[in-house]
Amino acid sequence: MAEYNFALSQPVRIEFGEGKAERIQDLANKYGFTKGILICDKLFVNNGYAQKIIDITDSLVDIYSDITPNPLLSEVKKACALIKEAKADYVVAMGGGSSMDLAKFACAMVNEDGDILDYFYNRKSFTKKPIPLIVIPTTAGTGSEVTSVSVCTNDENGDKVANAREVFFAHTALVDPNLTHSLPPFVTATTGLDAMAHAFEAYWCKAHNPISDGLAIAALKKIFANILTAYKDGKNAKAREEMSLGSLIAGLAFAPTRTAGVHACSYPLSMYMHLCHGEACAFTLDSFIRINGNADKDRMMYLAHELGFNCFNCMADKVYEMKKEMGMKLTLKDVGIDDVPFMAEKCANEPLLNNNPIKLNKEQLEDMLNKLK
Ligand code: NAD
Repeated sequence: MAEYNFALSQPVRIEFGEGKAERIQDLANKYGFTKGILICDKLFVNNGYAQKIIDITDSLVDIYSDITPNPLLSEVKKACALIKEAKADYVVAMGGGSSMDLAKFACAMVNEDGDILDYFYNRKSFTKKPIPLIVIPTTAGTGSEVTSVSVCTNDENGDKVANAREVFFAHTALVDPNLTHSLPPFVTATTGLDAMAHAFEAYWCKAHNPISDGLAIAALKKIFANILTAYKDGKNAKAREEMSLGSLIAGLAFAPTRTAGVHACSYPLSMYMHLCHGEACAFTLDSFIRINGNADKDRMMYLAHELGFNCFNCMADKVYEMKKEMGMKLTLKDVGIDDVPFMAEKCANEPLLNNNPIKLNKEQLEDMLNKLK
């Protein structure tokens, strides 16, 4: 019987290299886009880069920048209203995952009617074409530039949901590693560890396939080799370029497989302990390398050897050391978790846990967390 059975879809055009962010007008001309809105992190409004992009891109007419780090549905609605009011026929999103994810949802909602909550909770399907979105990542972390995922938060009740829909795929990703040089060390660490988690999860997800395996290994090689240099020496152009590539390749790896245990646990850790996304992923990453390593020893030993480790636990030890060196929270006390059963229950209820190579129940998750005392 054949071993493999999978489907892949990667519709995003990718352009990678220095200065790509300044090529928006060429793309607009090529695809016939005539009027666009720039959705970007406030940082770029404050440092003047957004204005520079507007000045050199004739077809961009306005900026939307009201974006919180975990983007809110109320912000998606505001961005959508601006796009409609301007009668824009394309959007550019420049920033980290928060800006890109907000823009993805806003572009998909522009031609839809009805309540955004129906789409957010998957009670209603998107039926109309989204308006084209050009994404320009400025962190090396989420891979959102090539995924069909948009993670937003319902401000009415705090629900943070990672929605995956075909309509969320961007039209084009312009990946310019120079834009990441300004990332402070803490954000370099958390976003880089998020990218590392994507690659590990793509590799061990139940839906992994030989193509995602290869991409995951390629991404992990780049991230292991460069994350500490990028953290310590943010102006190191080679390390930044390799991290941008690593994050992009990790995004391509997990786009079809989705993520698993690490990301499942990251949502309650962000929601209740207020860790940012990357640090929430980093918190359980080495624990899951050990747990999933024991679940599928041959595959995880193969991965460890490919990455130059003698065993999968050595790989977990290295991740732990890197987290420590980059000042990540390591223990329950650091994070402020005093009710382990509550946190374990919240993690156990996360749907992404079903993608993990072994399904962990509440008691097993409690065990995992108790080892982090
Ligand atoms: P972010 O977009 O929230 O940005 C984090 C911080 O970095 C912000 O303060 C921002 O101002 C700053 N920043 C961004 N670029 C900078 C730069 N070049 N220089 C200096 N500062 C800069 O962070 P993120 O980690 O990229 O995105 C996190 C969000 O993405 C979360 O909501 C997470 O759930 C989501 N996410 C989405 C996907 C996906 O596939 N769609 C995957 C993983 C995570």
